[in-house]
Amino acid sequence: MSDESRDFLYRLLATPGVSGDEQRVQSVVRQYASSFCDSIDFDLHGNLTLSINPESNSRVMLAGHADQIGLLVSQIDDNGFLNFQTVGGWDPQQLIGQRVQVWTENGCVPGVISRKPIHLLEESERNTVVKFTEMWIDIGSANQEQSRQLVRVGDPVTMQMGHQELYGGAITAVALDNRVGVWTVVEGLRRAKLQGARVGVFAVSTVAEEIGLRGATTSAERIRPHVGIAVDVTHATDCPTIDRRQLGEVSLGKGPVIFRGPNMNPEVVRRLRETAERLGLKHQMAALGRAAPNDSNAIQISGHGVATGLVAIPNRYMHSAVEVCQWDDLDAAANLLGDFCAGLNETDSFIPQPPKSLSPKGSDPLRRVS
Ligand SMILES: [Zn+2]
Repeated sequence: MSDESRDFLYRLLATPGVSGDEQRVQSVVRQYASSFCDSIDFDLHGNLTLSINPESNSRVMLAGHADQIGLLVSQIDDNGFLNFQTVGGWDPQQLIGQRVQVWTENGCVPGVISRKPIHLLEESERNTVVKFTEMWIDIGSANQEQSRQLVRVGDPVTMQMGHQELYGGAITAVALDNRVGVWTVVEGLRRAKLQGARVGVFAVSTVAEEIGLRGATTSAERIRPHVGIAVDVTHATDCPTIDRRQLGEVSLGKGPVIFRGPNMNPEVVRRLRETAERLGLKHQMAALGRAAPNDSNAIQISGHGVATGLVAIPNRYMHSAVEVCQWDDLDAAANLLGDFCAGLNETDSFIPQPPKSLSPKGSDPLRRVS
């Protein structure tokens, strides 16, 4: 992995992008990708699309969402404290004791979210889960007027951005969901080009996934892809208290996860798996019996239907300030996408087919039972 590729992810992780406010992230992507893609487009919704071979009759869309869950300032109170709404799915317990950053028109205003100290909590308060409405942001100002000079209603707020490297290639950061997806689709496009991809490849840094897959919906409508692959994080099940019987065996460092289920096109799944096997890439399989809670859902049912895949990066502690992923999984995912795209021809069909190996007459195993 080159220093530039590594640095690209670290810059994405240092850059805020609460849903609806992703353009700082898009600038980082454009800066990194402008030297190797054939075209770069911004659309009205805020999606950023990079492409190679855009004139091809066969189009593959790779989607990674640029946005992250966060907060919005909803009110500045008489004492200068900021009240907030949440954007996306937060567990309120994750917010207590966090350093935050308010992203104003004039730059970043640091603050904290906390509550009264344990010594002062009533017995009943110690045993109760705190609600969002019982928390506030303290930026250190003395009164409403001072706060108003710095912050406006509607300013987005993130947990402290940036990353920390952990042992053995693991990384922790607040927005690994889903800057790792943006990184992977952009790197996948770059690697597809290096390998001489012949079809059109469109890597999209989509907006507003966390509030309902909105950017994937509008960008798939615009690109009208034949094949679409979303890259997002998925729950690693290799830490305490997670039910592996339901969620499957997903471990950090054992490679990207290729999902199977009704949200996925079986031919795309087969080709992804065969590509990983041919390259000797570590990968993991997982099942999903419903519409996926990520961009692959919107992509599959856009236009007249899209042959869809979901490649996921194992992630511990999703939607917290301390999400954890592994570099090896990212690198393998980018290689998988690059090679998958480079292996496609304009004539390839992804219309679902029955399995080739139907049991011949007379050798039906069910018949032998009776
Ligand atoms: Zn996500």
